[in-house]
Amino acid sequence: MPLYEFVCDECETGFELLVGFSQADQPQTCPTCGGLHTHRKVSTFAMGGGAVRNTAGPVARPASSPFT
Ligand SMILES: [Zn+2]
Repeated sequence: MPLYEFVCDECETGFELLVGFSQADQPQTCPTCGGLHTHRKVSTFAMGGGAVRNTAGPVARPASSPFT
């Protein structure tokens, strides 16, 4: 099972999760705050320092993300 990186939109915490391919594009539960508004850090088109935005609404990138 691949390891994906997710980012919580509520507490902006990044976390890694082993999920199946069928679940990779679905929001996961944030282990920190329990929030359901998370999105996967996509590596296919957003690498290189750009902000990751794939959901509606403003998504602020943490200035000091532990996963970058
Ligand atoms: Zn959270």
